[in-house]
Amino acid sequence: MKHKQKLRWLIVGICALIFYLAFFFMGNHFIQSNQKEQVKALGQDYQDALLGQAKAQTLKRWQRNYQVEVVDLPVTGTSELAKVAQNVAKHNLVNTGAPYLKVEYRQQRYLLYLISDSVSKQNEAMLVQPLAGIWSDFRGLWVTFSLLYWLLIAAFFWLMWQHQKSVRRKLGLLSHNVVAITQQQEPEPVLFTADDPFFPLGNQLKDLSQIRDQQLLAAQLHEKSFRSLINNLPLGVMLLDRDGRVEMANQAVATILNVARIDSASENYVDYVKTYALSRMIEHALRQPTVKRHQRRDIQLVGDDGRFVEADVISLIGDEAELNDMRVLVMLYDLTEIKQNEQMQLDFVANASHELRTPVTVIAGYAETLLAGAQHDSLKSREFIQTIAEQAHHLEELIHDILLLSRADQDMPIKWQTVNLEQVAQQTIKVLQDPIKAKQLKVNLDVAQYTGPILSDEVKLEQIIKNLVTNAVRYNREQGEITIALATTATATTIKVRDTGIGLTTEDQTRIFERFYRADHAHNATEKGTGLGLAIVANLVDQLNGQVTVQSQLGVGSTFIVTLPVNHVE
Ligand code: ADP
Repeated sequence: MKHKQKLRWLIVGICALIFYLAFFFMGNHFIQSNQKEQVKALGQDYQDALLGQAKAQTLKRWQRNYQVEVVDLPVTGTSELAKVAQNVAKHNLVNTGAPYLKVEYRQQRYLLYLISDSVSKQNEAMLVQPLAGIWSDFRGLWVTFSLLYWLLIAAFFWLMWQHQKSVRRKLGLLSHNVVAITQQQEPEPVLFTADDPFFPLGNQLKDLSQIRDQQLLAAQLHEKSFRSLINNLPLGVMLLDRDGRVEMANQAVATILNVARIDSASENYVDYVKTYALSRMIEHALRQPTVKRHQRRDIQLVGDDGRFVEADVISLIGDEAELNDMRVLVMLYDLTEIKQNEQMQLDFVANASHELRTPVTVIAGYAETLLAGAQHDSLKSREFIQTIAEQAHHLEELIHDILLLSRADQDMPIKWQTVNLEQVAQQTIKVLQDPIKAKQLKVNLDVAQYTGPILSDEVKLEQIIKNLVTNAVRYNREQGEITIALATTATATTIKVRDTGIGLTTEDQTRIFERFYRADHAHNATEKGTGLGLAIVANLVDQLNGQVTVQSQLGVGSTFIVTLPVNHVE
């Protein structure tokens, strides 16, 4: 119990006691005042009786009736009472002005009343009566009253204590619930009756807890959708506090920095950022926490995959950072693919110009030799002109393939149509009749598994088959064989072009789809290719969402397999 509370209880107790005592003393005073009146009246009676010379017997009876002793003055007897009365009168302790006196003798209190003559002021007698009072006259009543009174007071105290206890318990519960609500915990259930003074407060707390739950849920949902948004961004995002600890990071940043995942449980950014240039940008921002700064640089990250990124490091200060604490936002945009494409374009231009320059140089060389006089030698001039024609033809082929590839690069839209693959294959064989005949090749068209037509782009398919069959002719042996097998299943269409040619090494198999790549043997082939045919095939197959693979064995032959998904007319 608190000190103040104790004091309050003490004051209430003292008040109860004062009231009890006051009642006692006031009661006593009232009884004694009455006694005085009565004694005075008895004094009058006595005087009257004395004057009337009442008989001694009557006087005795009168004394017994009113429990009063009479001591005549001046004193004649030697009784103790007479001595007391004598003393009192002698010392003038009572007189006509103040005729009452309380004395004690034989452990009893008495009231003395002086009867004196009103005219001569002569003391006549002293009336002695035991002093009346609550305790002496109403002992039983007073004990009963006291018991009841203190019982009532005790009951009052008990009830107050119980009340205090229940108020304290309820207040404790409510304040516990307030704490639980602020600490986002579940509050204890409170059940107050409608007439309880805490009922409205309990209800308000319940409402408050429900509002908090709803707000918490809404905040959680917001955070969840925000996190999922950040996590699904292709842009790497990482937020650092002013000490460089990671507060938040998405999956993209982990992928770009080549780490499994970034643990945002207060790890420092240096655990993840290993590239000096990027660390420097971040350090720069952290070192000047009051300066708003936006740094941007293209950086190549260290590591196995050596990614190229555009790094943005932004100092968030003031309101932007929340809680007025500085933060650093790191955003990494992966440029690797763009850079790779750029490099591929550069390589392509370099390769293309190299490839184009070779026939042009040959043509120019031979033409100059002819002009320098070789034209007069009919045998030589014929040979030179033939070479010039061959090179011009090769140049034409090169330009054709480069154009085809550049068009393919632009992702020409697919022109969906029903395509009869068998017809396309037959057409290709027909077109390539001359070189086929020249090598005395046997061409088979296997359509046993083919149930076409299919839905695809005819021009693209023509180009694919033409390039594959051209290679099968070009890299075949004399009197070799070519098999074109078409097949359709419920899920795919396959085109297989098998030859009995020189075959490919395992390394060549992995590189032949690169632009301008040619295996060693190709350089010795009678008919020179461009090195772009399979690159075009790969590109077109990719556009049709298919796949192209090769199986080959040196000196035995190669099989190119194109697999296309089955498309349905929408
Ligand atoms: P090219 O015009 O040189 O034939 P391609 O892109 O069509 O260019 O082919 C790339 C290289 O792959 C060729 O130079 C050749 O070395 C190899 N190649 C392609 N098809 C075959 C095949 N059927 N058999 C053996 N080698 C092949």
